[in-house]
This record gives sequence, C-alpha cells and structure tokens, in this order.
Amino acid sequence: MADNLITLHGIVLSAIPIGENDRRLSILTKEYGRISAFARNAQKPKSEMVAAAQPFVTGTFFVIAGRNSYTAVRAEVNNYFTELRNDLEKTCCGLYFCELAEFLTGENVDENETLALLYSALRALSRGDIPPRLVRAAYEIKILYAEGEGPQVNECVRCHTKEGPFVMHVPSGGCLCRRCAGELFDEEGRRAYELRTQAVASGYYNLDDSTWYTLRVIASTQPSKLFSFSVSEEVLAELRAVAAAWYMEYVNHNFRSLEMLLAVEEVSE
Ligand SMILES: [Zn+2]
Repeated sequence: MADNLITLHGIVLSAIPIGENDRRLSILTKEYGRISAFARNAQKPKSEMVAAAQPFVTGTFFVIAGRNSYTAVRAEVNNYFTELRNDLEKTCCGLYFCELAEFLTGENVDENETLALLYSALRALSRGDIPPRLVRAAYEIKILYAEGEGPQVNECVRCHTKEGPFVMHVPSGGCLCRRCAGELFDEEGRRAYELRTQAVASGYYNLDDSTWYTLRVIASTQPSKLFSFSVSEEVLAELRAVAAAWYMEYVNHNFRSLEMLLAVEEVSE
C-alpha cells in the first residue's frame, strides 16, 4: 500500500457526478471533519469506488491528499444502509440528514458528535421502530446542539432562573421565564402568552410540559442513545414547530432534499 495513503473513517454525505466517469464525494470523517474527495471512475461498474461512492455509505476510506482536495482510491464499507433505499420517504429523509450535516459541518474541525448523530439517525430510520418524522425532528434539534447552536432549554436566557413556567422564544435563543417574557414583550405578546396558544406572534411558543421534557432529553442525551424514545402526536407537532421556527430564524437555507421529502410526505398523508 502506498505510503501517502491516509485512512479515514466516516459517512458519505453526497456523491455528485463529474463528467461521465467520476464523482465528487463529500465525506464526514472522524479524523478531519467534512472533507471533499474526488473519486475517479466512480460511475464505472468495474471501479473499486463505485459501490462506496453514494450517500449513507459508512466505512473506511483510503485517500491521497492533494493540494485542494483528496482523491479517494479505495473503501471498505461497513454499512450501505440498503434498507433506506427501498423506501422513498426514508431515502429522502436520509438524504436530508446528509444535506443538513453537509451544510452545518466544517472542514478540519472535530465533527465526531455530528458524525455519531448522523450514523445513529440513519440506523433509526432503517430500523423503523420510530416514525421517520420523530427521527427527523430529534435529528434537526440535536444537530444544533452538536454544532453548538441549540436552544437553551434549562434556564431563562435573560435572568438565568431555572424556575418555570417558561415560554420558548426563538429570537431570544431559547426559553424565557414568565417575568422576563412579560418585561420583554408588548401587551399583545403577553396576551398571546396568557392565552396559551401555539405558534403565536413574534416567535413565542407555549409548549406542553412533555415537550419541554423531550427537548431536555434531546439536548442532554448522547447521539448513540438518542433514538429510543416515543412521544405523543401533540408533542411531535410541537417539536416540529420549534425546529421549523429555529431553522427559519437561524439556518435560513433551502435544502433541496427537504423540499423533496415534504412532497413525498404530502403524497403519503
Ligand atoms: Zn427570566
């Protein structure tokens, strides 16, 4: 084996065709965070890389470092996640998880928590014991924590009291106690808070106690143990609403795979 071969462990996030023969891979690795790697002849059936050059593939990748990018020469695959590819909703969901990871992660930084989370989420999707929508909501929220940008759910973001009740206020970055919420917002906002409505004006969310509990579980549980819970339809709806508002406020990006997933979900409803 060549001396300059580097061994990396990770998951393929995307595999864009380049011309008729090659692919450009984005791989989330244990060693270097997200990397870009060129896979020569990865569209040709006889290539060593053809089976490995597709999203979800998890394994060991042998690469050569170039000036601006890596070249992937060989891979040892641990998991293809074939079960995901036979179900359209799961495929789209998995592709969205990968696209989200690709967008939020960086090169040459420690992305081990996000890597573990993505693997764990793909496994949960392929196991199928938790509804894909719950896996998605938990993944969307947890990846924010893995990237250091998750909502504060344990104390008031203004006065730091741990005494509830709290209201979720997305523009403030997490929960507000009743007093701070009252001081911060105008009469209309307070009234909306008192009315205990969902998704009220200016980014307020009045959440059920079980939703607060679930958010705290998501924030504190390690990725490998995360996808082992179930929630009621109401809690799931609140988790999805918080995630959607958070992404609109802080991530603000159109994910192509999410558009596809939403279209698929609509058909299956
Ligand atoms: Zn407060």
